[in-house]
Amino acid sequence: MFRRNCWFLPLVAVTFSFSSMKTCLADKADSPKGSVALLDRSASHLAPLWTSKDGSAPKWKSKNGIFTASGDDIITKERYTDCQLHVEFKVPYLPNRKGQARGNSGVKLQGRYEVQILDCFGKETPDKGDCGGIYDQVPPLVNACKAPNEWQTYEITFRAPRMGPDGKVKENARITVIQNGLVVQNNTEIAGVTGDHPYDREIDKPGPLLLQYHGSAVQFRNVWILPLPLEGAKHY
Ligand code: MG
Repeated sequence: MFRRNCWFLPLVAVTFSFSSMKTCLADKADSPKGSVALLDRSASHLAPLWTSKDGSAPKWKSKNGIFTASGDDIITKERYTDCQLHVEFKVPYLPNRKGQARGNSGVKLQGRYEVQILDCFGKETPDKGDCGGIYDQVPPLVNACKAPNEWQTYEITFRAPRMGPDGKVKENARITVIQNGLVVQNNTEIAGVTGDHPYDREIDKPGPLLLQYHGSAVQFRNVWILPLPLEGAKHY
């Protein structure tokens, strides 16, 4: 009797648990303890926390907590090393553009390691210049892109490079990126600064979070950062 009529109960339980977990994650993504809201859903301007690269006021447009890339990159006034980062972004639908001109932006950790943003929806084999890739170095593991004009998420865990006593890099930076719930970078080693124009090359120092303007009106909302300690306690 039980087998015949209740075969679906485990499925219900799993579905319920998954639903609860999604709700829990969504709540946590809104305001985890200790995080800093860099782009707040309720904020209407960037000035308190962001500047352009030259230190002038940001040129991006904002309305109702949504920030649109325009004019120049923006960087945080604060500098960071290891961190957990949540980013929501939306690429516009640009059917007449191709390749790197189609919805290009990016999230640059420490102003020098770019997680690419691009309209790559439906591309069968994403490359190292595509969305979810570490720009020009490591392609995403899978294509996790949603269609343009849909909000997408990056959950990023970043480990800054470690320096040796000689002042040279002892361990390269590492990064894990989850795009729309799928792992696209799995503890990926970053060989060095990405692209030709990093904000700075002082890799032994903390750097800003940079959101890129690359000719497309990519939108952002609800960006928060949680600085991480460089290592855990040594107590046992
Ligand atoms: Mg880019």
